[in-house]
Amino acid sequence: MSDNLIRNIAIVGGGTAGWMTAALLSRVLRLGNTRISLIESPEIGTIGVGEATIPPIRTFNQLLGIDENEFIRKTQATFKLGIEFRDWGRLGHTYLHPFGRYGLTIEQIAFHHHWLRLREAGDETPLRDYSLSGSAAYLGRFTRPVEDPRLILSSLSYAFHFDAGLYAGYLREYAQARGVKRLERKVVEVELRGEDGFIRALKLDDETRVEADLFIDCSGFRGLLIEQALKTGYEDWTHWLPCDRAVAVPCESAGELTPYTRSTARSAGWQWRIPLQHRIGNGYVYCSRFISDEAAAATLLANLDGAVRAEPRFLRFTTGRRKKFWNKNCIALGLASGFMEPLESTSIHLIQSGVMQLAAIFPDRSFDPSDAEEYNRLQIEEFEHIRDFITLHYCATEREDQPLWAYCRHMPIPESLAYRIQLFRSSGRVAFYDKELFVEPNWLSIFIGQQIWPRRHDPLADLPPMEETRRQLLRLKTLIRQTAQAMPTHGGFIAEHCRAGAV
Ligand SMILES: Cc1cc2nc3c(=O)[nH]c(=O)nc-3n(C[C@H](O)[C@H](O)[C@H](O)COP(=O)(O)OP(=O)(O)OC[C@H]3O[C@@H](n4cnc5c(N)ncnc54)[C@H](O)[C@@H]3O)c2cc1C
Repeated sequence: MSDNLIRNIAIVGGGTAGWMTAALLSRVLRLGNTRISLIESPEIGTIGVGEATIPPIRTFNQLLGIDENEFIRKTQATFKLGIEFRDWGRLGHTYLHPFGRYGLTIEQIAFHHHWLRLREAGDETPLRDYSLSGSAAYLGRFTRPVEDPRLILSSLSYAFHFDAGLYAGYLREYAQARGVKRLERKVVEVELRGEDGFIRALKLDDETRVEADLFIDCSGFRGLLIEQALKTGYEDWTHWLPCDRAVAVPCESAGELTPYTRSTARSAGWQWRIPLQHRIGNGYVYCSRFISDEAAAATLLANLDGAVRAEPRFLRFTTGRRKKFWNKNCIALGLASGFMEPLESTSIHLIQSGVMQLAAIFPDRSFDPSDAEEYNRLQIEEFEHIRDFITLHYCATEREDQPLWAYCRHMPIPESLAYRIQLFRSSGRVAFYDKELFVEPNWLSIFIGQQIWPRRHDPLADLPPMEETRRQLLRLKTLIRQTAQAMPTHGGFIAEHCRAGAV
């Protein structure tokens, strides 16, 4: 057995990123010979506004062995079946990006080619009617999927809306119970090794020193280790994702508990609405070139479901990523690694994917450069893929009514995204690559939702007689609708299985 194993890990930051990292590493490493310390400063605080997630979060919770109903109760969570987009492609137009798949593959041909064929023949059934998650979302219904792939209920997919602060607190208990040591202190200095520039130790505000072999930077936007100490550099994506500020405010719940996030395009950005059990999270993500902070806050406050529960909080950011996520003996996770606006709820997912990859490519004290190289390659691919997906929402707009939207409609876009759009337009094919987060149904939802139509469908979809395809799709649509209607209401499901206590 190598005696070169990592013995000490120091995590800086106790936000969602810090505690997700501590929880997973404490589970994977089982903390026999390795010590994990997490340093967080209550004086600095956390961002704490990440509230909407995507389905892979369930895998993360399962890896931790967390009981889902207990997690929901502890974090005031609700279920999320997708995201509704209002006014994105055009004013007055709404579409849904549901989780899970559309329809089923018929004769080896992706479902949407059959749907396109019927549409060209005059059938106006929206794509959403062939998604169980989409149908259930708009009926306000929820139940958990089954595993048997022969049943339509297996096509449902879900994630959560939760209180990110409560989630971090929940994982803190989890990690501390598994031996993670928490230091409530501020890091005031980062000591580098003269010979190779690796991090040697952190100096805390009580004069103590924390030495470690591996340092994980979860210090938020400031990137205390990865940027301030190691000067890694940042790739700025503002020209593709121009929003650079947000104002967030919670309000009282009103009406039914909707099982989806809503994103409404506004004059200089977009507003999120995220229903939790005890409140609704709201925010306006905007571009400071086109609106003032005061006007953004006024727009947000004028568009809430219920009474305001706290003062609006303003946040600033620069969309982009660190040039390296793993530099020397430091790995950046969470906001310290980069940021893309929460339009598709991908930030918490990026923490998950980073820490899972780190666990898989876990170094020893020799820090073989190929480990860092591979980790960086995978993370860069993941970030760029998500960047393209989010940019699609902005560039595929027909709006010219406001300067932001006119800019987005005509802005240059990444070549990789231009290729995907061109391919879809020419043949209805969705380009997606190995291990991508967003796959065919996700891209399809945005392409069609924002009126990017292919010039033709796959000719193989024309082989079955038209009437047979029509019958098959009608049967499917009816089955989906009936299955969704038979589910309990979203609120009813929560009340029966996982209602949280009052706060
Ligand atoms: C407007 C907005 C909306 C968002 N919405 C979503 C969403 O819906 N879904 C989603 O997935 N994500 C969302 N995110 C992203 C999400 O908030 C973050 O990914 C998540 O909260 C992780 O943050 P973090 O832990 O990296 O950083 P932070 O929450 O900023 O935590 C940083 C930690 O570092 C500590 N720290 C910093 N400096 C020091 C120091 N010198 N010494 C000691 N400790 C220090 C702080 O005390 C704190 O504990 C959103 C982000 C923004 C800005």
